[in-house]
Amino acid sequence: MEKYAKVIVDISVDSVDRLFSYILPIEAVVGQRVLVPFGNRKVEGFILEISTEKPEGDFELKTVIKVLEDYAALDETQISLAYWMKTAYHCTMAQVLRQMIPAQLRGMRVKEKKVRTIYLNPEFDKTSINALKQSKKKDIIQLLADSTINVAVADIVELVPNAYAPINALVKDGIVIEKFETVYRKPNQIAPQCVEKPVLTAEQETALQRIEQIIDEGKQKTVLLHGITGSGKTEVYMQAIEYVLSKKRGAIVLVPEISLTPQTVARFVGRFGDSVAVLHSRLSAGERFDEWRRIRLNQVSVVVGARSAVFAPISDLGIIVIDEEHEDSYSSENPPRYNASEVAQRRCSYANAPLILGSATPKLTSYYYAKSGKYELLELNNRVNLMPLPQVSIVDMRKEFVLGNTSIFSGLLTERLRECIDAGEQAILFVNRRGYSSFVMCRACGEVIMCPDCDVSLTYHKQDNSLKCHYCGIEQRIPKTCPKCSKPYLKYMGIGTQQVQEEFISLFPNTKYLRMDADSTRGKDSHADILGAFASKQAQVLIGTQMIAKGLDFPNVTLVGIVLADCMLNIPDYRNTERAFSLITQVAGRAGRAEKVGSVVIQTNTPENNIIKLAVQHDYKNFYEAAIHERANSLYPPFSLFVRILFTGDEQEILFAESQAFADACYATLCETLLANSADCSEILFMYAMPAPIKRIKEKYRQQVLIKLARTKHTSKLIKAIYAYSDTCDMKHLYSIEINPNDMM
Ligand code: ADP
Ligand code: ZN
Repeated sequence: MEKYAKVIVDISVDSVDRLFSYILPIEAVVGQRVLVPFGNRKVEGFILEISTEKPEGDFELKTVIKVLEDYAALDETQISLAYWMKTAYHCTMAQVLRQMIPAQLRGMRVKEKKVRTIYLNPEFDKTSINALKQSKKKDIIQLLADSTINVAVADIVELVPNAYAPINALVKDGIVIEKFETVYRKPNQIAPQCVEKPVLTAEQETALQRIEQIIDEGKQKTVLLHGITGSGKTEVYMQAIEYVLSKKRGAIVLVPEISLTPQTVARFVGRFGDSVAVLHSRLSAGERFDEWRRIRLNQVSVVVGARSAVFAPISDLGIIVIDEEHEDSYSSENPPRYNASEVAQRRCSYANAPLILGSATPKLTSYYYAKSGKYELLELNNRVNLMPLPQVSIVDMRKEFVLGNTSIFSGLLTERLRECIDAGEQAILFVNRRGYSSFVMCRACGEVIMCPDCDVSLTYHKQDNSLKCHYCGIEQRIPKTCPKCSKPYLKYMGIGTQQVQEEFISLFPNTKYLRMDADSTRGKDSHADILGAFASKQAQVLIGTQMIAKGLDFPNVTLVGIVLADCMLNIPDYRNTERAFSLITQVAGRAGRAEKVGSVVIQTNTPENNIIKLAVQHDYKNFYEAAIHERANSLYPPFSLFVRILFTGDEQEILFAESQAFADACYATLCETLLANSADCSEILFMYAMPAPIKRIKEKYRQQVLIKLARTKHTSKLIKAIYAYSDTCDMKHLYSIEINPNDMM
């Protein structure tokens, strides 16, 4: 009986983003990759359906040329997941499916590694060996006779020099048989860190038992495991995974970025050994492909990796763990613009498995869901081993200023740096994340100029010397005096790593330092290189942005300075307080070493700021109460949702007109949708066209439509309506549609 395959071609263009039918003359399964004729080309594709019924229509069917691998690249749940992602993230099927396979598999740029092995022909009479005269051939035959398995030719050459010619001769004579065997390239594994499995504390035990119970119930459930650093969360994950493995199911563990979390990964490797695959950015294409194949062919049951490991083809998934769930790196900023936590939830619901989100400082949204019953909350309130906490000092930079110190470094930080450097120890200096985010602050009283409507700081724009709100577009002149204390010390702030580096050099001209920020880490490995250089003490001081917060576990670091905590609190982004809280908590919670208790210096213009105080005390709950209250008042997520539609192009006027037209027409569409659902337009809290905060990048102008929607039962309908409208509106410069993007710059 003739078979037919429905294929998604691996071309990411909307117009071909649908199933194409082909005659399938060969054995193949759903999920397998194939080569098919397409137009007058041959392209790669994925079989998503196979049937024996001839597709309707009077077009002439073409025929599948061949299968590309002898196994299915995708399994059924991945295909379901892909359909869901296509709708949820408004992207093409090809874009999604590409996430699920190693990049180099496409175009067959990576192949299985074959090794030439040989074995003795079973018909060869082994008793005749002794009678052979001494020769290389005899050595080789003896070697093979002693071995119970096929031996790699490369190994024989190690023992018998110049064995190639005699081996070839033996093969030709039929005494020895050769066989090419597929091997897995073993990545240069992260050194395992073996920690003997401890007896759990009562808190850990309670958490673990509840997770095991959820696993047994076989229902999807998202659990937020909230516990301060050192409270033993990782140990709970590992024992939960052991339980899952005992049920013959698999696990995925996501970490923010492997090169920044080597210890965590090393512990998983130490505990699970050969049954764990680590997907990290330093793998070569071949190694990545082999690790993926080991997973796909069910040879490992635990995968540890960064964001994209959420697609790892673990079959019979029993749990997903997302460590440090508050990290931004779990959202993809390129299409498909997915959020790993949402995708994980979806996968877990197919697999009836729990999703564990772990953090010392969860996202406010996650904690809100945990408290309101959408997630389940499990908490670890105590540290396991009472390592000494560092001594934290908060320095009031306004006083420094009044006393005549106009430097970036306070007297205390300079003194501590000097002590640390003289003692031969190491220090880390944190600077705010984004060099360009700048705000205006009174250096005498610490007042920051805020948007009257939005509860975020106004951003200083150097070009026209004005202040703008990145949420509503409001614009104003910089006042001459401080609106609070009337003194004339308003100053634009926004210290970058560059500036800190310069002042550092002038204070400590002979001290070796390293700098790590978005500019210095362009290359693929530079992250790990800089951290590696610092770990091996090639420099005494590391100056960096938040990206090094995870890398705090350097034994020789005894001093951490936050150069200006206000910079973090005043980035015009509603999530900024939670990011600042998270960073300060992490820095202040860094476990000291028994012999060297570290110290932390936090410089700020607003020492009375509650966030800093609460973070230093690790008081997440009070932070949450205050912050969620603000979110509710200002109607920020989780009480609302942002959609940002970005337009880019060469001509500002055209972008302006397009975005304006989009905003007007799309608003009308959304209102219609709401009215059709017996609701009214007030659910659209805000919707305007305006220039993007960064008006130009790489010579392209940027214009945006910003939409803020109330969170109601209509929200997902509205998002669909926005996507649908964008498909039909034919705006040439529409660049992206983002839902609650990490940043709206
Ligand atoms: P977290 O992930 O919350 O930061 P970890 O799981 O890393 O915490 O635990 C912190 C330290 O305490 C680790 O060195 C870990 O090996 C150790 N540890 C965890 N649980 C226990 C326990 N029950 N008994 C003894 N040591 C433990
Ligand atoms: Zn505003």
